[in-house]
Amino acid sequence: MTTPPNPLLFKRVALIGIGLIGSSLARAIRLHGLAGHIAVSTRSPETLAKAEELGLGDSYSLDPAEAAQGADLVMICTPMGAYAAVAKAIAPALKEGAIVSDVGSVKSAAINNIKPHLPEGVHLVPGHPIAGTEHSGPEAGYADLFPGHWCILTPEAHTDLAALDSVARLWSACGANVEVMTPEHHDQVLAITSHLPHLIAYTIVDTASTLESHTQKEVIKFSAGGFRDFTRIAASDPVMWRDVFLTNKTAVLDILGRFREDLDRMTRAIEQSDGQTLEETFTRTRAIRRSVIDLKQHIPDAKPNGANGGKSGQ
Ligand code: NAP
Repeated sequence: MTTPPNPLLFKRVALIGIGLIGSSLARAIRLHGLAGHIAVSTRSPETLAKAEELGLGDSYSLDPAEAAQGADLVMICTPMGAYAAVAKAIAPALKEGAIVSDVGSVKSAAINNIKPHLPEGVHLVPGHPIAGTEHSGPEAGYADLFPGHWCILTPEAHTDLAALDSVARLWSACGANVEVMTPEHHDQVLAITSHLPHLIAYTIVDTASTLESHTQKEVIKFSAGGFRDFTRIAASDPVMWRDVFLTNKTAVLDILGRFREDLDRMTRAIEQSDGQTLEETFTRTRAIRRSVIDLKQHIPDAKPNGANGGKSGQ
């Protein structure tokens, strides 16, 4: 028995930004036949030419408004710092009933930056696929980035339910598991599961890099001892992550305060040779790793430098 094809969900989808996430979505939409036309827009002529060379869309433009013209769905896939300018640029081109969505990593800020620019009759459905790698640009994307990963949608109380359903069906058809929550809750959860780990990785790698040059060589040489995983995370896109910390300030600072207290507790345990505290803590965290595996949120076959180059949730 053959699997029935996916229904055409949108006649025209516009992707504004065609890097890792935008190009993965373009490939998944194409693979599953979810849109009649994919309009691609990006900031630089070089990236647009690369997207065209890769055949990611049906039309290409440096003008986001031209891409958004007549689109049923406009998906903003740029770094969050560009959201307000993109929303302002596409607003006059949006048709009545169009859906504007996004993939940004911080949802309250996404709404605050996009919503004020949207005309009446246009539906905003913010979203965040919890999937990514440390690579950037249109070549970095691949169609099966999303299967097995969550995509969180963060509608507001008044969000049009039909629009929410259309965006949910798009992500489901791309293989993601869709979850709906408030933007505030999303930002708090991601602060601990994604933003703080990235901050720790960036800081640890930076600390190592400021050690004297002899030790640095040793750091690289013996990096398999745990440090290597941090270097992968710390290779994530600097502009994207700058924007994440600037837009999720409150939740990140809150969780950072709690983390500092826990780090102080661990520091004291080491100072005081308090093996019991250390062992109890490490035993608790080991159990958490087991529940991550039980929930299938670990990535058993991440291939460094391979096609999925350390696929992870971000
Ligand atoms: P990326 O690979 O760096 O691609 C970014 C795209 O946005 C490029 O097409 C770039 O265009 C365009 N762009 C950059 N600055 C712009 C500006 N000022 N105005 C207009 N376009 C601009 O980034 P990405 O990893 O796909 O991330 C895109 C979004 O996905 C971010 O909001 C991020 O929070 C979210 N996200 C990322 C991940 C991840 O793991 N990377 C995971 C989930 C969600 P040019 O190349 O033409 O300059």
